[in-house]
Amino acid sequence: MKLKICILLIALAAGMVSPARGQKKLRPDAFPPVETISKSGNKALTMASTPAEMAGWDRYPTYSTYLSMMRQWATDYPALCRLDTIGTSINGRLILSIELSSALNDSTLPEFFYSSTIHGDEITGFVMMLRLIDTLLSSYGQSERLTALLDGTHICINPLANPDGTYYGGNNSVQNARRYNARNIDLNRRYPDPFRNYSYSIPQENQLMINYMQRHHFSLSANLHGGAEVLNYPWDSFTSLERPHPDAEWWKALCRKCIDTLRTYPNGTFDDVEDSGFIAGGDWYVIGGGRQDYVNQALGCLEITMEISVDKQLSSNRLPEYWQFLAPMLITYMEAIHTLPTSVGIPAVTSEQLSAYPNPTTGQVLLSGIKENEKIEILDIQGHLLMQSQGATLDLSPLPQGIYLLRTADAIGKIIKR
Ligand SMILES: [Zn+2]
Repeated sequence: MKLKICILLIALAAGMVSPARGQKKLRPDAFPPVETISKSGNKALTMASTPAEMAGWDRYPTYSTYLSMMRQWATDYPALCRLDTIGTSINGRLILSIELSSALNDSTLPEFFYSSTIHGDEITGFVMMLRLIDTLLSSYGQSERLTALLDGTHICINPLANPDGTYYGGNNSVQNARRYNARNIDLNRRYPDPFRNYSYSIPQENQLMINYMQRHHFSLSANLHGGAEVLNYPWDSFTSLERPHPDAEWWKALCRKCIDTLRTYPNGTFDDVEDSGFIAGGDWYVIGGGRQDYVNQALGCLEITMEISVDKQLSSNRLPEYWQFLAPMLITYMEAIHTLPTSVGIPAVTSEQLSAYPNPTTGQVLLSGIKENEKIEILDIQGHLLMQSQGATLDLSPLPQGIYLLRTADAIGKIIKR
């Protein structure tokens, strides 16, 4: 029988489980899209057929307008940005990313990634990302805060991860945008699942995105969705009781900081799922094959899912209003790349039976998935017994840096202390 042991940070063990609300809202991502009905009755998805028509940021761009805007920024700000192609969709539309920094060739800068609209009908984030690019570029040298961000960070922004879904009704309208790609696949259920043995093939758009992310070394990212207003931190695969994320406390503190930026906004927002405005994904709804857990577990990048508008297809005249309250949060989140937890970048070492997330700062870890009071032996790599421990708490602080074996009655795995 295979035993899976997960080693988690003991420092984070206390208070990391937020009690589930009695009456949680259903996670919209779990259900097929429904026709969005405007509350006000005057909803419009007005299109911009030229970049000039995007000047007020109160329209959605046609596909060609989107491409023109991305190219124009690269032309207008060659010292601050360059355009990269992640790949092409099934129907041949471009999946683009803009890289922004005042030191684009400095490989020592931490790399940040925003990606939006993997669900093609969740289009608020598409325009928010375009406006964010424009704001970062036009504010350089003007805003101290944004200048510092571009000086110290390599920022990549992919405004539209599923162009075939967004322009399902044709390149000149988002009226018939839909969730799926051209092959009816929900892309956010078809990433390689780091925790389950799914046998599905990886859709083209996702494989290209994986290739792109592997070419970079992102340490913090977010994937923007719509249909709710909540920050959804990992894991999506487990409830926080089953398996809290090793950096759950850090996530919660960051989410709180982000949500604080929009609490002064007069209209009630980000309270439709949780009053706090954030939740561990699995406490809301457990999913498999999502991008968030893949990025966190397999790529070693901290990624959150941002659900940014209850209305997936926000009336275009409300886009400026959403920008007003979302922009401070989007910027605050990017800045967090400079205060990452110390465990970032330490890969989980996995054998057949064990995976490990040691805390390099304290040397203390929490074991989960083992029997109560189960004995654990820590051995050197040659198999010499060094320490014994019992129960869920394991203290590696007496040991020097190195690779060790961890052995229980029926499992053995490797652990790295750095
Ligand atoms: Zn979504």
